[in-house]
Amino acid sequence: MNIPFLDLSFTYTTLQADIDAAVARVLSSGYYIMGPEVDDFEAAFAQYCQADHCAGVANGLDALILSLRALGVGAGDEVIVPSNTFIATWLAVSQVGATIVPVEPDAATYNIDPNRIKSAITSKTRAIIAVHLYGQPANLGPLKDLCRTHSLALIEDAAQAHGARYAEQRIGSHGDLVCWSFYPGKNLGAFGDGGAVTSNNPDLMQKIRVLRNYGSSKKYHNDVEGVNSRLDPLQAAILKVKLQHLDIWTEQRQKIAALYKSELADTGLVLPHVPQHTVPAWHLFVVQTEQRDALQNALTDRGIGTLIHYPVAPHMQVAYDHLGFGKTDFPLAQSMADRVLSLPIGPHLTMDQAQTVCAAVKDVAV
Ligand SMILES: *Cc1c(COP(=O)(O)O)cnc(C)c1O
Repeated sequence: MNIPFLDLSFTYTTLQADIDAAVARVLSSGYYIMGPEVDDFEAAFAQYCQADHCAGVANGLDALILSLRALGVGAGDEVIVPSNTFIATWLAVSQVGATIVPVEPDAATYNIDPNRIKSAITSKTRAIIAVHLYGQPANLGPLKDLCRTHSLALIEDAAQAHGARYAEQRIGSHGDLVCWSFYPGKNLGAFGDGGAVTSNNPDLMQKIRVLRNYGSSKKYHNDVEGVNSRLDPLQAAILKVKLQHLDIWTEQRQKIAALYKSELADTGLVLPHVPQHTVPAWHLFVVQTEQRDALQNALTDRGIGTLIHYPVAPHMQVAYDHLGFGKTDFPLAQSMADRVLSLPIGPHLTMDQAQTVCAAVKDVAV
């Protein structure tokens, strides 16, 4: 039996009639840039996220870049980011010309450790970007306290956290600006690129709306040097259909995560830890072991797909050679890169398949 890590066509085949109808509606509308489909999805997604505002953008990286720009962060400013994250979090900071200040995670949750942030704050620090890594909300309470005390902006990279909750409230407006990706493999994925920013701050959101559309709030009148980073109405229409099914898909992820947690408890693998005040979206189910490569190879031999998120920590990427970081500068991020393995999880995976994964892991785990 083959158990794929991901099956991107699953959501299309389950919702084919509705998605085909949405696509046909956009194609026959004559509206191919912005317009009512984008407005409708923005309203629906803001409501889903318990946020006052949503602005669609072209992708998750742009959501982060435009958020930093809306806050006026640029050259000479420092931004605190997790040492262990997908490269996009770091790229956004360097793209606006600001300085990347990495901070190590809490070893139990893999999310940025608020206790380590204080010593990284200087007079140049302008913002913290917290990443809800693997769909597990970062420790937002202490992060918000730090930002209030030191007058910093809190940006959330929520690219992996659609539907997750912190202190009973959905991710979407805890921080100043919350950045989303609708890359196909995310929990809410488009059939192409897409992204959004949600927030309760109308002034910042107005800036993002202007920046994403050539710096223009009135056609052919450009107030700032903006970019072209708009959410495609075809993707918006598709995302609006999919949003109605997101909670069901998240429930399936939660059931699989619960099964993995109980079935794999005695295998010696380090399993995800969920703090009491959070409900993860389970974008990924990540285990840790010294024998990671052996475990991955054994599962591959049994037809079970796994991936590594991420095999190279940002500070060791060739792209950031010029920052001069070495392997030992961020030991927690480094140890994750050496030890993490993501097991299959998602709406495409049946409980029987998840059981098969458990049996295989138990069989080979050392
Ligand atoms: C996917 C992802 C992004 C970037 O999203 P794109 O839409 O691919 O630009 C940013 N941050 C994190 C944590 C991600 O997982």
